[in-house]
Amino acid sequence: MKIALIPGDGIGPDIIEQAVKVLKVIEKKYNCKFEFTEVLMGGVAIDATGVPLPEETIKICKESDAVLLGAVGGEKWDVLPGHLRPEAGLLGMRKALEVFANLRPAIMFPQLKSASTLKEEVLGDGLDIMVIRELNGGAYFGEKVRIDTEDGQKAWDTMAYSTSEIVRIAKVAFETAKKRDNKLTLIDKANVLESSRLWRETVKKVALDYPEVELNFMYVDNAAMQLIRNPRQFSTIVTENLFGDILSDEASMLTGSLGMLPSASLGSGKLGVYEPIHGSAPDIAGQDKANPIATIMSVAMMLRYSLDMEDAAKEIEAAVSKVLDMGYRTGDIMQTGMTLVGTKKMGDLIAETLK
Ligand code: NAD
Repeated sequence: MKIALIPGDGIGPDIIEQAVKVLKVIEKKYNCKFEFTEVLMGGVAIDATGVPLPEETIKICKESDAVLLGAVGGEKWDVLPGHLRPEAGLLGMRKALEVFANLRPAIMFPQLKSASTLKEEVLGDGLDIMVIRELNGGAYFGEKVRIDTEDGQKAWDTMAYSTSEIVRIAKVAFETAKKRDNKLTLIDKANVLESSRLWRETVKKVALDYPEVELNFMYVDNAAMQLIRNPRQFSTIVTENLFGDILSDEASMLTGSLGMLPSASLGSGKLGVYEPIHGSAPDIAGQDKANPIATIMSVAMMLRYSLDMEDAAKEIEAAVSKVLDMGYRTGDIMQTGMTLVGTKKMGDLIAETLK
């Protein structure tokens, strides 16, 4: 199985090293072979080639079964024009690989309950929400215009969706809900927006192919409130790009630990891009302080969604939980009475537990 590795910038190389450790254990345990190819993207690519996403990187990623990404970005490159900044590499890759569904689980490890800003009674015995965000359409990609007017300027962004764009993400959402507990919530603003009304009608039609999945609907303003009031009512959520951007950040922060959460970006085929939700954390880069768990959990998603290795995915998730049970913590999730460890040690502990 071919895996393109993009360490990127800041803590990216630190955390990808731990992910590879874990994959090496899986290779032995499951008697399979991962062929890793390291490629450039982000600031390091700008320094080496002048652009954030070299053609060579796209080519290798397209030829791979999965892409595992650390993080990109840093102050050094913030002065560059938008299309040459590290983040342009991220958007360019999502487009080039045609990944249109962003899966962001907001899982709360019961061991880290106290890190959440929510009260214990709201959290119950934990959170497990999957937010599925459409990634290639809506206001971020629709027509953008700014014109001069008599009293200043006028600007607009167009939130546009076609039936086929909605159908393909709806299918990912129903399939994902089926693998979980058969519950799916479509979040939209169908009382006001025409694009949302098309979403609702289209998703209802796709639902006919998934009679086992219970589909319900919620307006985005209510959903933003309900996520804080009673997050446990949600299981799988599907929504358009802009709403998903905001709600997935809200849902993930309910768990209180940025360094723990993975993500997957999927297209029509098996190829996916897997990455932690956090950024390149330049403030702690190269200091053995980064929490590698979000990246290791991204490896589990990669095994589940691109490489058909569900058992291995579950084993990795269980190993992470066990290491937390043993009381080991990186700085970002440190609690009194626990043992503080660095990036490498956390990687070693999870790899050892997996063996
Ligand atoms: P960030 O997520 O990098 O860091 C926010 C805070 O969380 C920092 O204090 C950092 O030290 C901490 N943190 C993040 N990940 C951690 C981890 N694994 N372990 C321990 N602590 C962790 O966000 P930011 O500071 O806003 O952005 C830094 C850079 O990352 C910017 O250049 C930004 O554009 C980029 N960025 C990249 C991505 C990506 O590659 N997908 C995503 C978000 C931000």
